[in-house]
Amino acid sequence: MTLPRFKRILLKLSGEVLMGDGKVSIDPATTARVAGEIAAAQAAGFELCLVVGGGNIFRGLAAAARGFDRTSADYMGMLATVMNALAVQNALEQIGVETRVQSAIPMPSVCEPYIRRRAVRHMEKGRIVIFAAGTGNPFFTTDSAAALRAAEMGCDALFKGTSVDGVYDADPKKVETATRYDTVSFNQVLSDDLKVMDASAVALCRDNNIPIVVFNIREQGNLARVLAGEGTATIVGN
Ligand code: UDP
Repeated sequence: MTLPRFKRILLKLSGEVLMGDGKVSIDPATTARVAGEIAAAQAAGFELCLVVGGGNIFRGLAAAARGFDRTSADYMGMLATVMNALAVQNALEQIGVETRVQSAIPMPSVCEPYIRRRAVRHMEKGRIVIFAAGTGNPFFTTDSAAALRAAEMGCDALFKGTSVDGVYDADPKKVETATRYDTVSFNQVLSDDLKVMDASAVALCRDNNIPIVVFNIREQGNLARVLAGEGTATIVGN
């Protein structure tokens, strides 16, 4: 796989990535391992900012299906992402990486509010900015938040850390013959409804020409390998 040279990247972490073996919502050892991956990428010279999901704790859509009001459920989901952001911040600071959490829903006694210029300044000073509370709006996902922040922060690429090693033409856990794409276009992802990110996030990346790199973050050392152009991943581009 040949990756273009990226400098500033936005890393999207699904909430599930922090779960470990699934017994607790936020597993400290798993969170520490993910933090180690992020620190290694920064040490290799990349500028990073993060968007964290909340699906390990609460998902608005699923809760609405069980009878919750959708908007309240989405706000609960956004609050869940703040918990995850604080967990990732804590794990990064324990290994000496300077971070700031910025929330799209202001909660000044917990973290900074999202202010784009301030976030850019933090990154220039070598801090890792962790964006929490998604877009701040119900009916969106943290995938859309990731695409939005990647565009706002002038990122060269959006890295989506998942539990599979790229984008397949069918679900590799169900279909034995499923084949992984090395590269695939945004339009094919949308027309074939390939599972990368939700459609609004993919369209936002397409329109702003921000490639999405899908890779397995559960594998030790994989973020650094993929960033160095050595690991297995799928690049979604124009
Ligand atoms: N959410 C929202 N608006 C946003 C981002 C997230 O309402 O801009 C809510 C939504 O209910 C979602 C939940 O927060 O289900 C957790 O985010 P997501 O499902 O994207 O987390 P992930 O799947 O990445 O862990």
